Amino acid sequence: MAAGQDLSARVALVTGASRGIGAAIALRLAESGAAVAVNYRERAGDAEAVVAKIKSGGGRAFAVAADVSQSAAVAGMVERIARELGSIDILVNNAGIAIVRGVDDLTEDDFGRTIMVNLKSAFLCTQAVLPAMRARQWGRIVNITSGAARGAGAIGPHYNASKAGMEGLTRGYAARLVKEGITVNNVAPSLIETDMMKGRTDLARNIPLGRMGQPEEVAQAVAMVLGNAYMTGQTIILNGGMAFI
Ligand code: NAP
Repeated sequence: MAAGQDLSARVALVTGASRGIGAAIALRLAESGAAVAVNYRERAGDAEAVVAKIKSGGGRAFAVAADVSQSAAVAGMVERIARELGSIDILVNNAGIAIVRGVDDLTEDDFGRTIMVNLKSAFLCTQAVLPAMRARQWGRIVNITSGAARGAGAIGPHYNASKAGMEGLTRGYAARLVKEGITVNNVAPSLIETDMMKGRTDLARNIPLGRMGQPEEVAQAVAMVLGNAYMTGQTIILNGGMAFI
């Protein structure tokens, strides 16, 4: 079990956990004892590999397919998790897409898809898990935003907008839910070495630390947030020293 916190009575849902940052978060929460629902969109094999790794360490997990930008899929996923593992105590809204576009080639479809997958999904998943969290007067919601919520970013304006919207969503929920024992925070990484950043390692030259971040470093920040009942509506920023905001 990871040092510092015991999540053994908790059930966690990590969206987009088949690879990259989500997979690292799922593994980290399982190491702390949480039973983990590993959500994915289409890469079932990758999600099953994450589940197998958790189980080989003695943890509880299962893989659950759902496009989190679709309300019916989210409702079905949350019901299935309740049956398989119990009600969700910890929600990590991590699923996301990054369609790289310049101002001149950005289309309405790129904008719409990005807002649906990166922002609307967090709203849908949050609404779906809240009734059970409120009933127990305990819950932790962590939204994986990005340095692009506040800075220029490397993807495009649609991506900036989706992540800035998520920050607003976080503050709106945080203010309304703190009295019920539910915290809502953001973890905002920049330039983490995953499939999303494949072929973009040249961007590492902008990082004062001299390298890109690792998914496990983001997972460590998520774990930190979960252990704190007094912190809500905040953003933890990880960027190797690129900006201090
Ligand atoms: P990634 O390696 O591309 O993985 C994306 C994950 O999201 C996959 O598990 C994918 O599932 C899932 N996903 C995508 N669309 C989905 C949908 N509609 N429904 C359910 N799952 C969906 O990305 P990553 O780099 O780990 O990024 C994770 C999060 O961190 C994203 O929100 C991203 O915006 C954010 N972030 C990343 C960086 C970075 O530098 N990497 C920096 C800042 C913020 P499948 O495997 O089934 O496709």
